[in-house]
Amino acid sequence: MNDAALRIGVDVGGTNLRVGVVQQRRILWEHRHNADFSQICCGHTPALALEKIIAELDVAIEQARKKYPAVESVGIGFPGFIDPQTRSVALSPNLPGLKNVDIALPLARRIGLPVSIENDALAAAFGEYLMADPQPASLLYLGLGTGVGGGLILDGKPYPGQHGVAMEAGHLIVKPGGRPCGCGNNGCLEQYASASGVAITYRQLTNATLNAQQIAMLAEQGNRDALEAFQVAAEMLGIALAHMLKVVDVEQVVIGGGMNAAWPLMQSAFDASLQDALIPALRGRTLVTLAKAGDQAGMLGAACLPA
Ligand SMILES: [Zn+2]
Repeated sequence: MNDAALRIGVDVGGTNLRVGVVQQRRILWEHRHNADFSQICCGHTPALALEKIIAELDVAIEQARKKYPAVESVGIGFPGFIDPQTRSVALSPNLPGLKNVDIALPLARRIGLPVSIENDALAAAFGEYLMADPQPASLLYLGLGTGVGGGLILDGKPYPGQHGVAMEAGHLIVKPGGRPCGCGNNGCLEQYASASGVAITYRQLTNATLNAQQIAMLAEQGNRDALEAFQVAAEMLGIALAHMLKVVDVEQVVIGGGMNAAWPLMQSAFDASLQDALIPALRGRTLVTLAKAGDQAGMLGAACLPA
């Protein structure tokens, strides 16, 4: 990778695009562009939605190019499965209607720059890998937000898997027959260890509907139900991570996403559950750290994606 090159990274989120200009793995400039892709997808035919998405990306990228005309490439972290062979968006669970659509090629033609695209959690994993010091040979990233995303870096490269669904960690089943999940299965990690999972646990315990942030505040004041909601999340995360480590014995695990602000509420239950579920040969041997690049990881990783 040519570190001196100026690159644009775009992280496509729920209601906005974060755009940054990156050089030497540092973000020189960043900007938030309001664009609600799920509304665009719900309100239009797939073909028109795609056209509008490309137009929004173009506007956001153009703002970065006005500041830094010398940018050489664009990378996009996109919420969906990216087919590693065709680089098209195979499916986006949160953006209905987008199936097997190529975003990178028409965008590249429109803006006259090479465009790479990757799953948003995998882009964030790559961003965290670039920030890690010392850089590990292999890294597994888990993003705990509204859902649970995962990304795997092997030998310094993002690993999407054969069909672009490697490390769909949020849908590992941690409780057979458990809570129904949007993916169609029951008992997925995401239903317990995400912000929405914490809210569900708390509601089941108390009948009250609060968001994860409110529950974290209660937990910090010693509220037992709130503490338990985070403990359930931590235990499920520990079990799921132990399964993942038995499959891909990585050097470092990074925990990111908005929920990691509540990590002190989860750490001891997570450690106990992880160590308990690991095979003895692996206990205490994998470095687990909190994300360094925070919510900029996706943008940074996207900018630096291999061409
Ligand atoms: Zn699921």
